[in-house]
This record gives sequence, C-alpha cells and structure tokens, in this order.
Amino acid sequence: MTADIFCQIIKKEILVDLLYEDDLVIAFKDIHPLAPVHILIIPKKHIESIVDLKKDDEILAGRMIMVAKNLAEKFGIDKQGYKLLFRVKEHGGQEVPHVHLHLLGGAKLSENIRAIK
Ligand code: 5GP
Repeated sequence: MTADIFCQIIKKEILVDLLYEDDLVIAFKDIHPLAPVHILIIPKKHIESIVDLKKDDEILAGRMIMVAKNLAEKFGIDKQGYKLLFRVKEHGGQEVPHVHLHLLGGAKLSENIRAIK
C-alpha cells in the first residue's frame, strides 16, 4: 500500500500533467489550480513535511526552488512575479503529507495568510 497520493504519482500509478523530472524531483500541474499557473514541485523521496528535512536534504531543497524558478521562466510569469509556498503541517494548511512546493502565478494573488480567529 502506497503511503500517499504523491508517492503514487511518482510511481506513475496516478497520471498527472508532468512538466519536469530529474533524479531528485518531479513537477506537475495542480489538479485544482488556485491561479492561472499552479504547479507542484515535489521530491521523489517520501518526506512528510518540511519539518522532517535532514541536513542531507539541502541539495534537494535547493533543487526544488531552482526547478520552480526555471518553470516560472518557462511559463512566462517571472517578469511580473509569483508566489512560492510550502504549507507545513496542520497550522500551515498542509493536506498532502508529502513535501511539495506550490508555484503560483499568472495573476496578482491575494494576501490570505492571517490567523484564523
Ligand atoms: P496542500 O494543501 O497539501 O499544500 O496542497 C496539496 C495540493 O495537491 C492541492 O493544491 C491539491 O489540489 C493538489 N493535489 C491533490 N491531489 C492531487 C492529484 O491527484 N493530482 C494533482 N495534480 N494535484 C493534486
């Protein structure tokens, strides 16, 4: 039994709109886009959350950011800008327990990060 839906995507058990793949990460379109461009960059290795990153994951963490930067250029959203977002565990609103970096852009995005009262 596979641990989470993103592990199933990595194993190609679930098909996605794959945009990028290398030895450490894959990137694909989010199934429920919150912006005209909404891409997820995820490690191939199962890591539940950013809090679980180890010293050895430094290269992986840097790779995720560089892949996001390159995809932003490829999708033509780098000039006007975009958001990079890691949701982390419950308070961060993380739903899928596998590290993922959201790349969001293509429109001016709202600022919705205030604490829930
Ligand atoms: P989180 O809320 O955990 O930060 O974000 C999880 C993201 O994964 C959501 O934006 C959701 O739409 C996306 N997602 C969940 N399941 C799938 C799927 O099967 N395929 C794709 N492409 N995206 C998914």
